Amino acid sequence: MSDCLFCRIVEGSLPARIVHRDEHCTAFWDIRPQAPTHLLIVPNRHLDGLDAAQAEDEALLGHLLLTAARLAERMGLERGYRVVINTGREAGQSVFHLHLHLLGGRPLGWPPG
Ligand code: AMP
Ligand code: ZN
Repeated sequence: MSDCLFCRIVEGSLPARIVHRDEHCTAFWDIRPQAPTHLLIVPNRHLDGLDAAQAEDEALLGHLLLTAARLAERMGLERGYRVVINTGREAGQSVFHLHLHLLGGRPLGWPPG
């Protein structure tokens, strides 16, 4: 989808600070970080959001979570981190290409806003 921001980052036609790329996903720094570490992990294949995921995406979803865990280790987030998937406008989703936020490096409040 050439009109999708994150598809363009995956394709390489929009620059991003990429920290990880494999056959299934790409991870890069959020342009407006909300914590000292704030990465986005996106599937290389376009999916509108978690609500669009189907049974055939099960392995992909697991891969995205494991990638988040490995990146958290790489980023030195041994004190803790949070993985967030905003789904739908009321939950704050603004880019409609599935993405995991990996946040850490500061105390994170609960409940979230
Ligand atoms: P969400 O609001 O959950 O859909 O998250 C979208 C995230 O994408 C926000 O945290 C934005 O700061 C981030 N974002 C938007 N455009 C870019 C971009 N070009 N590169 C990196 N992050 C972006
Ligand atoms: Zn996309």
